[in-house]
Amino acid sequence: MNIFPVKCAIALGTNAPGGIAVFQMACNLLQQHGFTVERLAAAIITKPLDCPPGTPDFFNSALIGTFSGSAEELLEITQSIEQTLGRPVDHGFHLPRPLDLDIIIFGDKQMQTPYLTLPHPRAQERMFVLEPLNEIAPDWVFPDSKKSVAEAYFILKKRL
Ligand code: AMP
Repeated sequence: MNIFPVKCAIALGTNAPGGIAVFQMACNLLQQHGFTVERLAAAIITKPLDCPPGTPDFFNSALIGTFSGSAEELLEITQSIEQTLGRPVDHGFHLPRPLDLDIIIFGDKQMQTPYLTLPHPRAQERMFVLEPLNEIAPDWVFPDSKKSVAEAYFILKKRL
């Protein structure tokens, strides 16, 4: 348990027919588990990346908030919410994903274990993470690269 609430950023994605309604449901469930949601970014529509042909487009968003537990506890919560909102435990690569939650930033924590890497290792390479996060937290800093979200966003935008 952290004594002080930790500032966290979480990325959200879905490509199931229910669309973005699931993002608000995820926020409600996070709140119920003790995570304080401060802002949810507007959803963007993105083309599937590294997915088989025919995969439906995704909606992506990001949220920021605070959490007073550990990073591992937050991962347990996000995984239980993914399952509650319909993602099978053993999800097929090609199947629609009702909800994907990735912990992008957990305060200044840096860790790498088989089940949790912080900050999220691919976040700074993914426009579908950086674009919504830049709307709500442009001045947050990735503790590994020391780049702000806005810097990472504009660097990637120039490259693409
Ligand atoms: P995916 O199916 O792409 O959402 O990946 C889920 C897997 O990534 C789970 O087994 C998690 O334990 C692992 N994982 C590693 N780092 C993170 C992170 N920062 N946020 C969420 N899941 C993570």
